[in-house]
Amino acid sequence: MHHQWLEGNLPVSSKCVVCDKTCGSVLRLQDWRCLWCRATVHTTCRSSYVTHCSLGPTRHATVPPIRIVADDVIEPPLPGSPLIVFVNSKSGDGHGDRFLRRFKQILNPAQVFDLAAGGPTHGLRLYRGLAPLRLLICGGDGSVGWVLREIDNLQLKVSTIIPCLSSVMVDGIKEPVARSVNVDTPKKTRPFFHFRREATSI
Ligand SMILES: [Zn+2]
Ligand SMILES: [Zn+2]
Repeated sequence: MHHQWLEGNLPVSSKCVVCDKTCGSVLRLQDWRCLWCRATVHTTCRSSYVTHCSLGPTRHATVPPIRIVADDVIEPPLPGSPLIVFVNSKSGDGHGDRFLRRFKQILNPAQVFDLAAGGPTHGLRLYRGLAPLRLLICGGDGSVGWVLREIDNLQLKVSTIIPCLSSVMVDGIKEPVARSVNVDTPKKTRPFFHFRREATSI
């Protein structure tokens, strides 16, 4: 797929991928940034840059937008193993919303779901045919249990769903839930940055 360029609003001190000089401006819309690979480029340099978009550092976990051929229809094959993210926006004393926003920036927003706004069913149904999937559940024990119950209800094969990481926003995931999804009990720590590191290293 081609880059999807958005004009202006480049991060401070962005470097042009072509000439390696600073680009963007805080005073006006200037230069370009790809929505998917995050490449930043001068207007004058853009025509010299490759047209193919790699989808950036999370390409193996991201569902390419061109694979979403219609509302709620995903067309395989995908280049990697998509990471489907369920976030409970009500969890974590305000962290939930931050998680939701951040993951929608890092991945395709169509693979990030708010458990508090519709539950896990839609997301699981949408991607059930695209094994192997990886699930990331951001919330407390109740959220993790909710997704697991729905996996059972939909009779999804466990082998196609690998819990990548279950974390906690406030009190710590409890041992029985951690064991059931085969992850270590996470510590109460700065989850936002923890997740960011995990997500960008996929
Ligand atoms: Zn791009
Ligand atoms: Zn340049």
